[in-house]
Amino acid sequence: MATAKHQILIVGGGTAGITVAARMLRKGYTDVALIEPASTHYYQPLWTLVGGGQAKASTTERTEASVMPKKATWIKNAASALDPDNNTVTCADGATYEYDVLVVCPGIQLDWNRIDGLEGTLGKDGVSSNYRFDLAPRTWDFIRTTRSGSAVFTMPSGPVKCAGAAQKIAYLACDHWRKEGVLDDIDVHLVVPTPRIFGIPAIADNLDPIIADYGIHLHTNSEVTSVDAEGRKVAVTSVGEGGTNTTLPYDVLHVVPHQSAPDWIKSSPLSTGDANGYVDIDKHTMQHVRYPNVFSLGDAGSSPNSKTGAAIRKQAPVVADNIDSFLKNQALGAEYHGYASCPIVVSSHAMLLAEFDYSMQMTPSIPFLDPAKPHRAYWYLKKYGLPFLYWNLMLKGRA
Ligand SMILES: Cc1cc2nc3c(=O)[nH]c(=O)nc-3n(C[C@H](O)[C@H](O)[C@H](O)COP(=O)(O)OP(=O)(O)OC[C@H]3O[C@@H](n4cnc5c(N)ncnc54)[C@H](O)[C@@H]3O)c2cc1C
Repeated sequence: MATAKHQILIVGGGTAGITVAARMLRKGYTDVALIEPASTHYYQPLWTLVGGGQAKASTTERTEASVMPKKATWIKNAASALDPDNNTVTCADGATYEYDVLVVCPGIQLDWNRIDGLEGTLGKDGVSSNYRFDLAPRTWDFIRTTRSGSAVFTMPSGPVKCAGAAQKIAYLACDHWRKEGVLDDIDVHLVVPTPRIFGIPAIADNLDPIIADYGIHLHTNSEVTSVDAEGRKVAVTSVGEGGTNTTLPYDVLHVVPHQSAPDWIKSSPLSTGDANGYVDIDKHTMQHVRYPNVFSLGDAGSSPNSKTGAAIRKQAPVVADNIDSFLKNQALGAEYHGYASCPIVVSSHAMLLAEFDYSMQMTPSIPFLDPAKPHRAYWYLKKYGLPFLYWNLMLKGRA
C-alpha cells in the first residue's frame, strides 16, 4: 500500500537528481520529491585532483541538505524495488511511494569484487582508487611517498564513469615524480582495455607523445584481472588484438573498478536486461522505452554517452522539458545528442578538454582553443571554474 503519492518522484539526489528537481521546480511544478539516503553530496570530478595532491577532499563535499532544492520533498530513504506497472517505488524500510512521473538516477554501482583480490587491499599497501571519497587522499599518500619501484594504473573493460580517470591520475603522478627527480627510478604502467588511449584519433595523437615523454609503458587492449596483495603484483589479461598477458609488480596501484547499474535496477522491469542492466531509455528523449512516464539520466541510464557530470548538464534540460511535455499530453520535443566532456589533466598545470557527442565529433565550447591539445586555461577551469558552476548554477537548475 502506498504511503504517499508525488507528481514527480526522483530516485537519487546526486548530480542528476538535484539538477532535474531544481529545473522542474523552476518550471512551476510544486510536488517534486527526491528519494536520497545519503547525508553528504559529493562533487566527484575533483577526486582526481585530490588523488594527485592538487585539491583537498573536504572541498568536494557538502551536506545533502544544502543542495536539496528548498521546495522539494526529501525522502531520506534508499529505493530498493521498482514496480512501474503500478507506478510505485519501494524503499529499504518497506515504505512505498506512488508517482505520476518517475526519474531514475541513483548513479552507478562500483563492482570492486570483479577484480580478484582487490577489495581487501584497498587503501593499504600502495593500493588505492580515486573512485571513493575516503580513498582519494590515500592515492596521494601513496604517490607522495613513492621514490622508486613500480606503479600500475588500470582501467577496466565496460562502461565506467569518467573513462579518463585512470590516465589522468597516471599523468599527475608522473608530473609529481618528475618534479621530485625520481621519475626515472619508477617503472610506470598504464593498462587500458581500448585499442588506443582515447577514442578520438586526433586526441590520441596528442596524448601518445605525453605518455612517451613520461616514459609510461602503455598496455592497450588489456586489463588487470587480479591482485596478489601479498606478492604485490597484478595479473594483466589481454581483452583484444595485441593485448598483454603478463604479471606486473607494483609499489603503487591505482584501480578504476568495473561498474554497472545498481543490482536492484538490474533486477527490475526498467532494466535493459543485459549484464550492465542500466535503465532502458531512448538515447535522445531520455524516456523509458517501455514505460512512458519513466525517465532516466546520468550514470544509471542506458544512453551510450560517456558517463560524466558534463553529460548530465545537457541531459537534465532535455529530461525536464520532456517531462513537462508528457504531463501536458504533448509530443516530446527535446533531444539529447550525446554531448559529454572528458577533462584530461596531463600535468599539474595543463589540461586537454575533450568535448564530443554520440558521433564522436568534437564539439568544443571554447572556439579559439585547439580542442585536441592541452591548455593552461583549462586547468584553471577544472580546478576553479567548473566546481563554481556546479555548486552555484547547475545544481540550482540554471546552467
Ligand atoms: C574519480 C572521478 C572523476 C570524475 N571526473 C569527472 C570529470 O572530470 N568530469 C565530469 O563531468 N564527470 C566526472 N566524473 C563523473 C561524475 O561525477 C558522474 O558522472 C556524476 O556524478 C553522475 O551523476 P549521477 O547523478 O548519475 O550519480 P551520482 O552523482 O553518483 O549520484 C547518485 C545519487 O544516488 C544516490 N543513491 C544511491 N543509491 C540509491 C538508492 N538505492 N536510492 C536512492 N538514492 C540512491 C546516491 O547516494 C547519490 O547521491 C568523475 C567521477 C569520478 C568518480
